[in-house]
Amino acid sequence: MTTFHLAGFPRVGAKRELKFAQERYWRKELSEQDLLTVAKLLREKNWKHQAEANADFVSVADFTFYDHILDLQVATGSIPARFGFDSQNLTLDQYFQLARGNESQFAIEMTKWFDTNYHYLVPEFHKNTEFRANPAHYVQQLEEAQALGYKAKPTLVGPLTFLYLGKEKGEAFDRLSLLDKLLPVYEQILDALVAKGATWIQIDEPALALDLPQAWLDKFQPVYTRLAAKAKILLATYFGSVAEHAALLKALPVAGLHIDVVRAPEQLATFADYDKILSVGVIDGRNIWRANLNKELDLLEPLKQVFGDRLWIAPSCSLLHVPYDLSVETQLNEDIRSWLAFCLQKVEELSILKKALDQGRASVQAELDASQAAADARANSKVIHRPEVAARLASLPANADQRKSPFAERIKLQKAWLNLPLLPTTNIGSFPQTTEIRHARAKFKKGELSAADYEAAMKKEIEYVVRQQEKLDLDVLVHGEAERNDMVEYFGELLDGFAFTKFGWVQSYGSRCVKPPVIFGDVVRPEPMTVAWSTYAQSLTNRVMKGMLTGPVTILQWSFVRNDISRETVCKQIALALNDEVLDLEKAGIKVIQIDEPAIREGLPLKRADWQAYLDWAGQAFRLSSSGCEDSTQIHTHMCYSEFNDILPAIAALDADVITIETSRSDMELLTAFADFKYPNEIGPGVYDIHSPRVPTEAEIEHLLRKALNVIPKERLWVNPDCGLKTRAWPETLAALENMVKVTKKLRAELA
Ligand code: GLN
Ligand code: ZN
Repeated sequence: MTTFHLAGFPRVGAKRELKFAQERYWRKELSEQDLLTVAKLLREKNWKHQAEANADFVSVADFTFYDHILDLQVATGSIPARFGFDSQNLTLDQYFQLARGNESQFAIEMTKWFDTNYHYLVPEFHKNTEFRANPAHYVQQLEEAQALGYKAKPTLVGPLTFLYLGKEKGEAFDRLSLLDKLLPVYEQILDALVAKGATWIQIDEPALALDLPQAWLDKFQPVYTRLAAKAKILLATYFGSVAEHAALLKALPVAGLHIDVVRAPEQLATFADYDKILSVGVIDGRNIWRANLNKELDLLEPLKQVFGDRLWIAPSCSLLHVPYDLSVETQLNEDIRSWLAFCLQKVEELSILKKALDQGRASVQAELDASQAAADARANSKVIHRPEVAARLASLPANADQRKSPFAERIKLQKAWLNLPLLPTTNIGSFPQTTEIRHARAKFKKGELSAADYEAAMKKEIEYVVRQQEKLDLDVLVHGEAERNDMVEYFGELLDGFAFTKFGWVQSYGSRCVKPPVIFGDVVRPEPMTVAWSTYAQSLTNRVMKGMLTGPVTILQWSFVRNDISRETVCKQIALALNDEVLDLEKAGIKVIQIDEPAIREGLPLKRADWQAYLDWAGQAFRLSSSGCEDSTQIHTHMCYSEFNDILPAIAALDADVITIETSRSDMELLTAFADFKYPNEIGPGVYDIHSPRVPTEAEIEHLLRKALNVIPKERLWVNPDCGLKTRAWPETLAALENMVKVTKKLRAELA
């Protein structure tokens, strides 16, 4: 028999039940007991789906009220001491306080889980961090599943990945030195799970897909020798190849290994001689495409010959990264829907694979035929494959991603017509998205507001935004993005090749979920997307109006991307569509155009060796989108959310005339890196932290601007907030911008 197992299911539920329950609990509209009940029912539903698909083990310990790495901090007693909580007796409110902070405590920092869009809470380790086992959360889930008659396999993140993903705080030390104290605690957790009847325990060490230093690699043998003495362990890796560690992994005394052959199919050969259980992650846990089951069987059947019952099958990683159920997407085009598989469909695919491996393909012939038909239809579909797109990419001239002249010449022409004062002021794009704007959009989408009335409402909003900026005496204006729900969705809806789900939510962090667009086909811009809004805004004012686009890398990064061509090609297709827009804006007289790329750093591959190749094509895509215009047209870009120190040459290679970046929260730290690197073009470091309703004082802004002037020549310095203002309210926005302009004028006078 082939064993089919899973490491995790979406926690938030098919209808985001957990999110809504949590948020009601936080607003004190739901009792703790009721929240616990919602969670329990969701777990039961998840297990039922898994069992109905004939999973041999249902997944436990994957459920969490916020984040599984926070749960591990609780389970190992290593929650930050600064909260003063007892991890052995933590209340639910204290748990949420760790995750969300309050007036007196800032929350545990969050960061992206490998290269996914999921965020985990970063463990804070101190030299004297002590650990204490508290397996209650895991044991409870195991007992619940068992009480319902399910065979369950708990999954925990392993000690090395846990330490590696944490941050060292306080006195300098090496967090690897905590391993000796942490290991007994893991042993106790395993003991507790085994005592409750867990036969297998999955331990995830995805850090193996990173550039793990040798000192850390050396610990795998001793750590897993000890843990393997406690339980039957399936050691799991995912998100990349671990082929280079094959010798190490094969020698570990664990009972089995799981590898991701969706992300790294080439590593399968390396593990073909493994002599214990091999779990093959064949179904994509991170993307929404339906598998071609015949092809998967072509890969699995020879393995089955060799491994027999030692072959296990699974999703490549936890299914928490995919939406719950495709069958509710009744509004989706039927062809497109037939090419997709969400969590429940993926589990079904594994069920079919299992049966085919054990009873032959004929036992599931109808299912295999359906899968094949979908794959064939997708391969040949005319809505996906548009020859003119491939032809355009193939016939691009060699200089298609180059501006006509170098920056030094362009900037002279730009300065000549722009005629801006020293330290020009501008905004990043959005202005407050008020309830009126959201209501108007909701009504328009429901058909309760006509297109004409909606347009009129948005135009009114734009006019208001323009007038406010004029009153504030800002130099380069923006239209405020009132008409945009989301910076990626807005463009996806206007481009061919994109589809949108109604319920395709995935957890980003805590109760926050995102619904990424689906890029299913070749990308084409059927008609101008922003020109009418931008020219309308320009018609209202004599000041310069900046056009506003989302960049190709960011659109790619925040979507579910087709897997039948490379990400690079998809990105360049988007870039060409955006370039059409840039040229149309320019033709319509919009000659300052910003192309936002906040997500450029997120796309970095997990291994450093692969960075440059990514940065090369990402940069090329950005330049493809922004080239072809006149030298006098000024291209801006904007970045935020990450530190950019380690990719400065790549940012410079974008060759944007002006970059605006988030820096105010770090007291301009990033700017020092830009200065050391000698960033060649113009730059607007954020002087107003838009993440908080606090209005920065003139003194604070002045402090930041003076710091900026210390490192950036005044001729190249812009003044702007950290990011867009859409989450802010009007009063604080106006007050903050007023301070920003006042300080700018004061410094201008001083510099003149
Ligand atoms: N132009 C966008 C805005 O102002 C940029 C958002 C972002 O960088 N995340 O909202
Ligand atoms: Zn931003």
